[in-house]
Amino acid sequence: MAVERTLSIIKPDATRRNLTGQVNAKLEGAGLRIVAQRRIRLTREQAESFYDVHRERPFYGDLVAFMTSGPVVVQVLEGENAVMANRDVMGATNPADAAEGTIRKAFAESIEANSVHGSDSAENAAMEIAYFFSGCDIVG
Ligand code: ADP
Ligand code: MG
Repeated sequence: MAVERTLSIIKPDATRRNLTGQVNAKLEGAGLRIVAQRRIRLTREQAESFYDVHRERPFYGDLVAFMTSGPVVVQVLEGENAVMANRDVMGATNPADAAEGTIRKAFAESIEANSVHGSDSAENAAMEIAYFFSGCDIVG
């Protein structure tokens, strides 16, 4: 397996409850290195564009409102098989289905306010990382 990078976002439900460090501990415990990290408040335009793939879904408007409701922490994670390793430690989208030990099982409030985003493929990871970071922001 090759060393990969993936994009992670700690969502507003988690920053609101001061869980950034606890989420990061789970990421690091899964063997992922945080090689870039920035706390920002997404604009509506940024959230709409980031989640454009979900534009036709019934929850899109609520999702954009949620993602702009407070600060987020955008991060680049690096490690062996990082895209899948991050998806594994995140847990299922719906916390009711998330496995023990996962971030969403431990912290998510609902299927929407589910504490973290993670890229779902290497191709999307490259696009999502480029959306928030330039090469010189990432220190491996
Ligand atoms: P994931 O974040 O696990 O990749 P998706 O890409 O399917 O999940 O959805 C993106 C985000 O949209 C989810 O993380 C969650 O915040 C929200 N979402 C997904 N499905 C629903 C739903 N049925 N109702 C409300 N929000 C949802
Ligand atoms: Mg997704």
